[in-house]
Amino acid sequence: MNRFPRRNFLQSIAGITTASCFNSSTIASGLPRKAQIAITLDLEMSREFPTRDQLHWDYEKGNLDEPTKRYALEAARLVQNGGGMVHFFALGQTMEQADVSWLKSILADGHAVGNHTYDHVYLLAKSVDDLQFRFKRAPWLLEGRTVDQEIHRNIKLAELAFKTRLNLARPDGFRTPGGFQTGLHGREDLQKMLLSMGYDYVSSLYPAHANIPPGTRPNETIFKSILESQSKAQPFKYPTGLIEIPMSPISDIGAFRNGRWKLEDFMKSVRQSIEWAIETGGVFDFLAHPSCLLVSDPEMKTLKMILDMAKKHQEMVEIVTLGKIANRIKQES
Ligand SMILES: [Zn+2]
Repeated sequence: MNRFPRRNFLQSIAGITTASCFNSSTIASGLPRKAQIAITLDLEMSREFPTRDQLHWDYEKGNLDEPTKRYALEAARLVQNGGGMVHFFALGQTMEQADVSWLKSILADGHAVGNHTYDHVYLLAKSVDDLQFRFKRAPWLLEGRTVDQEIHRNIKLAELAFKTRLNLARPDGFRTPGGFQTGLHGREDLQKMLLSMGYDYVSSLYPAHANIPPGTRPNETIFKSILESQSKAQPFKYPTGLIEIPMSPISDIGAFRNGRWKLEDFMKSVRQSIEWAIETGGVFDFLAHPSCLLVSDPEMKTLKMILDMAKKHQEMVEIVTLGKIANRIKQES
């Protein structure tokens, strides 16, 4: 039996009605399953930020500028002061920068840092052209390696970079550059590769949902589509045993670059998705990039809203890293 009347409770706080097919709001003990919210920030430069004409970053994804690093550090402090931890995903290339002390201090504070490859390579690439802009322009960098060999090397090389510059023994999980609508389904080879490299969970799936043509504002159909996609963005185990922790829509890039949303609309979507997670005991894996948020949300209003919601409903919500979400899936399966 639920101790908390979730639906009534949520309707009272937000006036919403949610139709959900995700149906595991209680655990075996009969206690309500807590909503798990992960605040994940991918540390990379983003095309079209800070200005729309900016395409250069595709070739230097890891060459973070000062405002991006500052935003990442301040976001980590904000979340920590609010009782949570951030799960960052870093590129090995960033370790080539002169100063990585900001990331060392993030690690020292207890935040998680996972592997996002060395050069932001596309794991589903079939050709060198698909692999990454840098390799498309300079294919000789592969030195005869196949695309599959380069993907493996790119993940390993990032580990080596983290170990050397950050003294990080193991990255905390792996996130694929780009999200795939079908995750790693049908790619047992990649699942097994990650398992063999010591990763027991991956974050690769980003479910399909509707978006708007740039210049228009999202209507209720769009919000509803995003909300409905939350149930398709719940963690699960692949047959190989690898755990998938999907990215939850809508990402900051999906909203601010692809849709050119207003901040208030982005916040509305995030709020609705968290309310859904509270009602169902589900997971919301907030996905954003400091390089995008510093332009779109300079005052960190979205993060502050997430922290406020978690604090208000602390008996039903926990802010966690992806490792903790993976542990719950292990315990439940
Ligand atoms: Zn990325």
